[in-house]
Amino acid sequence: MKKLEQLIPPNYFGGIFENIHAMIALAEGDGVLVTWNRAFGECKKESTPVDKLEDIFPEKDRHHVVSKLSGGSGGHWTAELAFNKEDKPMFCDCHLFPVADGNFLFIAERIESPPDLQKLIGRLSRQVKMFRRESEAAKKIARNKQVEMESVMVQASEVAQIDPLTFLFNRRMIVKELQSEVIRAERYNSLLSISVMDIDHFKRVNDTYGHLVGDEALRQVAYQLRDHIRQPDIAGRYGGEEFLILLPNSDSKAAAEQASRLCRQISETRASIQEHVVSVTVSIGIAQFRNGVDTWDTLLNRADNAMYEAKRSGRNRWVVDE
Ligand code: GH3
Ligand code: MG
Ligand code: MG
Repeated sequence: MKKLEQLIPPNYFGGIFENIHAMIALAEGDGVLVTWNRAFGECKKESTPVDKLEDIFPEKDRHHVVSKLSGGSGGHWTAELAFNKEDKPMFCDCHLFPVADGNFLFIAERIESPPDLQKLIGRLSRQVKMFRRESEAAKKIARNKQVEMESVMVQASEVAQIDPLTFLFNRRMIVKELQSEVIRAERYNSLLSISVMDIDHFKRVNDTYGHLVGDEALRQVAYQLRDHIRQPDIAGRYGGEEFLILLPNSDSKAAAEQASRLCRQISETRASIQEHVVSVTVSIGIAQFRNGVDTWDTLLNRADNAMYEAKRSGRNRWVVDE
């Protein structure tokens, strides 16, 4: 069988070179490109200026071409070209043949991935996208859960601070507030008074009308207390039917005025609870903080003692511990 070159006249070679997909170029011995076919030209157009054969390779691989050219014998190797057609790396089977006049014929044929491999790559990249989407969704759920948790925590901490019957600060919180107010009064040498308020003969209310009416009466006293104290005063339920009022920046005189108002207003109130009209009175003990003498608990004791003094001297009144 005769060889192709024996049967095809050389004047057909131009047409053949122009129409095949392989990139063909003729280069001088120093790599300077002399001429090239359409496939080579198309890639060359998309690339940074290409004057020499080595320019079509990434910089790190150029020395291979240069040494093959200077060796004079050409070669066959596989390389990634610097052309980045369609944003895909371009792997090529490269041939370098020495031809006449010290020139070289360079042929590069693109290596396409086999169809199965391409399918696999497609499937894997779809999976990667799916995982990414799923992990985004998981992150979103985790974020929502965190927001939910935070709001539950806020509610829980509010519940831990608030007395559920009266919605005033509970004992723990009002004592905590008392401790910080004492520290503040000590540090800034500022005024601080406190009042302990206890409902008179409350046992009788329970005994006469029942515990549920007693609860409601207690709630009504707490509402009045809240309505009649002014900023920055703080009130809390210290015990069963006992309340503690903190009056920062106030002396015992101001606390006594407040106590007088409270005694009057509470005693004048007739609360309709179920079918009963219930009226209660309160006794209030007042103490003013003495810097360098009192701690939070001695202050509380003094107010408590004053409250008992008010009980002893007839109830429905206030007493200041001097
Ligand atoms: P005093 O004037 O000496 O304070 O008489 P009092 O009856 O109020 O005093 P005492 O301490 O003997 O009784 C307080 C009563 O308050 C006892 C208890 O039954 C009642 N009490 C305490 N906490 C609650 C509550 O949450 N609900 C109801 N309904 N009653 C309560
Ligand atoms: Mg009482
Ligand atoms: Mg009591």
